[in-house]
Amino acid sequence: MLLFAHTGITLGTAKIMAGAAGWREKGLPAQLDYRLVLIGSMLPDLIDKPLGGVILPLGNGRIYSHTLLFLLTVLAVGLFFWFWKRKTWGLVLVGGTALHQILDFMWQDPQTFLWPLYGWGFPMGDAGVWLSMWLTNLIKPQVLIPELVGLLILAYGVRLE
Ligand SMILES: [Zn+2]
Repeated sequence: MLLFAHTGITLGTAKIMAGAAGWREKGLPAQLDYRLVLIGSMLPDLIDKPLGGVILPLGNGRIYSHTLLFLLTVLAVGLFFWFWKRKTWGLVLVGGTALHQILDFMWQDPQTFLWPLYGWGFPMGDAGVWLSMWLTNLIKPQVLIPELVGLLILAYGVRLE
């Protein structure tokens, strides 16, 4: 998945969950910062795309931040700030990050998702064709349709508060 699928679907899911939980009626909407939902929805790519594609020439944009270990680390930080400071920003961030990993189907790549259980390295890609392969994937229905759904949610379905 790419930008619009991650941000739109995650934002729509957060809005539905907040509505279902009745946070607005409980006077809690201020605690769900949708800007943090958006950041969390892209956090793994914001870290791994430049790191795995440019800084470390792996030709792989799914490395450290696409692992279960990263998710558990962000969760631990979120829980720390929730229990000791009553701040929810870390939990909101981990929710967006978890949905990012779900939308990336990371369980289908156990060598990355369960890093470092399968070794310290990550699968290597071809750095020379990485960008063109990424753009070529955009026209595939399994990528294009979620992108359009996410774009529609962002454009019409969700109003940021
Ligand atoms: Zn990703």
